[in-house]
Amino acid sequence: MRSIALTLFLLLTIQANCQNNNYFQIPGYDCEITSDKKFRSSKEILFVFPNDKDSLTYKEWTKSWINGFKRFGSECEIKYESELNEQDFEKPMLVLGSIYSFRRWNSFETPIKQITKGFRFGDLKFHQFDDAIFYISDTTTKAMRIVITGNSIGSLRPIVNNMRTGYSYLIFEDRIITHFGECTDNNYDKSKHVYLPDLKSKYYQLVQTKYYDFYIAKRLVNQISEYKPKLDSFDLFVDKYIEIMKLHKPTYRIPCFIHLDQEEISYISTHFSHLCGGNTAGVVNGKEIHSKGFGGAIEHETSHLLFNIEYNENTPTFFSEGIRQYYDFVTDSSQLSAGYNTSIEFIDEDIKPVIFGYEPFFQGNKYYYISGFFVKYLIDNWGIDKFKQFYKAENIALGFEQTYEIELDSALINYNGWLKRN
Ligand SMILES: [Zn+2]
Repeated sequence: MRSIALTLFLLLTIQANCQNNNYFQIPGYDCEITSDKKFRSSKEILFVFPNDKDSLTYKEWTKSWINGFKRFGSECEIKYESELNEQDFEKPMLVLGSIYSFRRWNSFETPIKQITKGFRFGDLKFHQFDDAIFYISDTTTKAMRIVITGNSIGSLRPIVNNMRTGYSYLIFEDRIITHFGECTDNNYDKSKHVYLPDLKSKYYQLVQTKYYDFYIAKRLVNQISEYKPKLDSFDLFVDKYIEIMKLHKPTYRIPCFIHLDQEEISYISTHFSHLCGGNTAGVVNGKEIHSKGFGGAIEHETSHLLFNIEYNENTPTFFSEGIRQYYDFVTDSSQLSAGYNTSIEFIDEDIKPVIFGYEPFFQGNKYYYISGFFVKYLIDNWGIDKFKQFYKAENIALGFEQTYEIELDSALINYNGWLKRN
């Protein structure tokens, strides 16, 4: 029995390592998230924030991780940088905050360096407002570090929203990953570094329509003529969507990658967890759409992209899916009744943990419908302009109160009443 278990373990390990032999010839993603697991199994973990005005937001962002780590058996403590003593630096730390807010950055001993107006990693320098980096040290490190830092609080949001811990670092420019790779001895190693724009130009061919730059996987180019009418049809969808949602016509062509398979979409969209099982038809990534094949969820992802680029690229899932679902409710009566039935069915459930991302959103259609109905409630009562204003908030609870002049808790009670009356 034990030898069967061991064989199975070896097989799984071999399979995980095989990802190094990928089509793109880049370091494989560690589906076992070895470093992350080692970090989380530490006895005591410090969450360290700088002493700045954003500390409440950092607390909101990290609440679900702290709960998760505790379930893993760790004792977690939050400390501000000014409260740290010398022994603290010997503990594993998760360091989160804008890099310019830290006073003793070098004491954290990471390969990320503070420079004037930005940060440096290896020989790469990042000065833009939206540049940010995620870093995790390897399992041989005595006091492990996870670092989430960048040049503004907004630049950290895409890291917090979607943690990917199977590479030692990810660098974000303009809120999407442009560099990633593996360190050697916790330092930048050029031979294990990937510059994503290079892969995008090397492995894809451009086809343009009125509103889109389609980048077609080179292994799919023989199908382009067959699918060209379909690609053109997405322009009609854009016109309809911007009319109904009162958005501006895009002043740019939407980049949309058409990938061959699961591996391609996962690496190039940087949704690496899809390399480790599961399936995806499409994802939106900042200002880009990624679709698996020509039949992926291009319309759905286009709606996210157009709305988010105008209002907020990093709104929590509940509201970004909610507004997308609202469009379906307005344009499709069968969706509206299905959404209503689901929302009534679960009317007694406390949806706050899902709103804040403490509980998972993606569980079949359920929360698409519920978030869509809550958004419909907000728009039917206060209009779409107010919703757009709320959508820009970095902090859900505060943003809600500021926009709607009512606490989210009270709004949820009123929403239940509204739902029953409808
Ligand atoms: Zn979606």
